[in-house]
Amino acid sequence: KSRAKMSAPGEKKVTFEDVAGLKEEKEELEEIVDFLKDPKKYVQVGARIPKGVLLEGPPGTGKTLLAKAVAGEAGVPFFTISGSDFVEMFVGVGASRVRDLFQDAKKNAPCIIFIDEIDAVARRRGSGLGGGHDEREQTLNQMLVEMDGFGVNEGIIVMAATNRKDILDPAILRPGRFDRDVIVGRPDVGGREEILKVHARNKPLGDDVDLKQIAQTTAGFTGADLENLLNEAAILAAKQNRMYIQQADIRHAFVKVGIGPEKKSRIVSEKE
Ligand code: ATP
Repeated sequence: KSRAKMSAPGEKKVTFEDVAGLKEEKEELEEIVDFLKDPKKYVQVGARIPKGVLLEGPPGTGKTLLAKAVAGEAGVPFFTISGSDFVEMFVGVGASRVRDLFQDAKKNAPCIIFIDEIDAVARRRGSGLGGGHDEREQTLNQMLVEMDGFGVNEGIIVMAATNRKDILDPAILRPGRFDRDVIVGRPDVGGREEILKVHARNKPLGDDVDLKQIAQTTAGFTGADLENLLNEAAILAAKQNRMYIQQADIRHAFVKVGIGPEKKSRIVSEKE
């Protein structure tokens, strides 16, 4: 009813092993995993665990993947919804969805609520960017009410992703709300190689494939870009009825996906 998707019991669970690179980010989240595994331990010693964690970074850098991996590592349910799902035409719908979502979560605690694109609901009020939008404000207010309302150690962690922290309403960043911030950046060369290795796990590679070299020539690529690159290479191999990927497939795929619209504009602007 809340529109949130709950992870199905049979679904293959994501773990930190599926998240390549991002070593520091994973370390920062270890604490949350441990808490979700055994909230009582923290309650007994009087520790207060953050309720909300904001994942901040460009699209495709693995924010959703990280949140899923936290749930997978802890073995708890994962409720996911996008900020844009809350914003409906009819006033009151978003707020009631937020209420339902937190109710579902409470019944299934310990668990994770993941809100993708939180900026769609939580952008600064009266910012001019869709400012004065009553429906959105009501939804945001409801979210704040819910976050303030559940006990610190009830076993619910709200994780949210954004690539625009600068436009967020400061109210959501206050202590007791999203007071933990994890910055997820674009991978460096080592990170890119690790991401390529993860996505090559189920893809047979020819002897001439050099993932290190590919990592070196893909500066600016996100994890999602790299996954896409290998997938396009696999499609090229299959088209030629070859059962493994060659370096040339990856080179050709690079031409196809390498210069996406975003990067193209960057190259153009660099020339100016
Ligand atoms: P968006 O803001 O667009 O939702 P996101 O940061 O949440 O992006 P994800 O959805 O987590 O990005 O990443 C998209 C896909 O890219 C993942 O499903 C995965 O296949 C790949 N990917 C991204 N980062 C990594 C990584 N660090 N390790 C392995 N795969 C990655």
